[in-house]
Amino acid sequence: MISKTHKKLTTVYTAVFGLFLIAFVGIVCLGIIWGTYVERTEDVKVLANEIARENRGLILQHAQKETNGPPLATTEDDYDISGQVFFYIVDTKGQIIKADQPVPVLRESAYFQIMNWNPLESTKITTVKLPTNKTAVLILAAHQVQRGENLLATVYVGRDVTAYARSLLRSVFTLMAVSFIFLFLAAMIGYFLAGKVTTPMEESMKRKKQFIADASHELRTPLSVLFTSIEAVEMDMDNRLSPFSMQIMNDAKEESFRLKKLVDDLLTLARTDTGEIELKKEVFSLTLITKQVLRSLRFAADEKEIKILFDAADSMDLNADPERIYQLLFILIDNSIKYSSPNSEVRVQFKKVQNTTGCYTQIAVTDDGPGIPFECKEQIFQRFFRVDASRSRDIEGSGLGLSIAQWIVEAHEGEIYVNSELNKGSEFVVLLPNP
Ligand code: ADP
Repeated sequence: MISKTHKKLTTVYTAVFGLFLIAFVGIVCLGIIWGTYVERTEDVKVLANEIARENRGLILQHAQKETNGPPLATTEDDYDISGQVFFYIVDTKGQIIKADQPVPVLRESAYFQIMNWNPLESTKITTVKLPTNKTAVLILAAHQVQRGENLLATVYVGRDVTAYARSLLRSVFTLMAVSFIFLFLAAMIGYFLAGKVTTPMEESMKRKKQFIADASHELRTPLSVLFTSIEAVEMDMDNRLSPFSMQIMNDAKEESFRLKKLVDDLLTLARTDTGEIELKKEVFSLTLITKQVLRSLRFAADEKEIKILFDAADSMDLNADPERIYQLLFILIDNSIKYSSPNSEVRVQFKKVQNTTGCYTQIAVTDDGPGIPFECKEQIFQRFFRVDASRSRDIEGSGLGLSIAQWIVEAHEGEIYVNSELNKGSEFVVLLPNP
């Protein structure tokens, strides 16, 4: 199946890139042909213009003879064609020795450029405004004629390259337009190909999530039955079991409890993936909920003689889903108790904070535990991630608690992060927006 997909993708990729290559080569070839054609045509037009200018007198004489009319004036046409070449040979006093002047409309601007020539420049390209309000582009070059050390004259040659400039500009615009079209096509094809690659991945991910959701759901009921059955047997046994059987019973109860918690967590995450869980927001007392969590965790804290400091003097309300906030506080405080060494302290604090993005309720759970290595600060929120397996081995857990905590916070459009120093402790901070 995979090799079939691989072959199919290879064919599609080759076809698409081949088409791109052919189109690209085709356009470049057309560009070169068109550019050369325009340049050569322009040269021939210039030649035609020069011949027409040189033979103007002859043409007018001929026309007059044919019509038997009055002599025709020999004024030259208005500037109509670019490309002509002109020159001025100027002596050291600024007198023109010889000149082949451009068409009258261009004459004044060309002369001005030459008379204001900077001797340091040997060539220059310039634009000049014509009396007809058109703009012409000129390329000028100067060559000094010397005899020994003495300068005799300077030859200035100019060429009107307006048509070239225009065609160059046209080529640049065409190239830009073609590039945009290609970019757009590339983006479309990229999107299409990405879809081809990611669709099977997404489908397999969806199937995996669905499997976890279904399995957790199916496991939940028998596990609950198993757990309550063990508890019922425990109540009914009246010391009739041997110490060995009692031990086995206790172990079975603990393991079934762990399994039940794991399945519950998996089911919660599976439901968050499918968007099945909806928040039921209401205004409630955060202080009261925290006290409830602390009551549930008192046994675990007492067992390790951990002191939980919670200043409940200031009652604080929150507009959120109380069930989910209970779960969030439970995960964070439970972790702090779990990972702290005996006889230490865990602190729970609330306060209102204001920053550039708005007003928040800040919940901080701090402990003096082993801390979290810097490189794991992001990873601890990933599913099944546990810092250093050897350190976590003796501590119960599945690596799902903080993923659930992160989902709860993000579903409330809040933020969760950890400040921690190795062997000094950790501070889990939650920011929940105040509507
Ligand atoms: P777990 O079920 O393993 O506790 P969590 O998702 O709640 O899963 O936590 C992920 C990992 O982050 C834990 O395995 C632990 O290594 C680390 N961790 C979480 N809270 C603390 C804490 N208060 N102090 C030190 N490490 C912690």
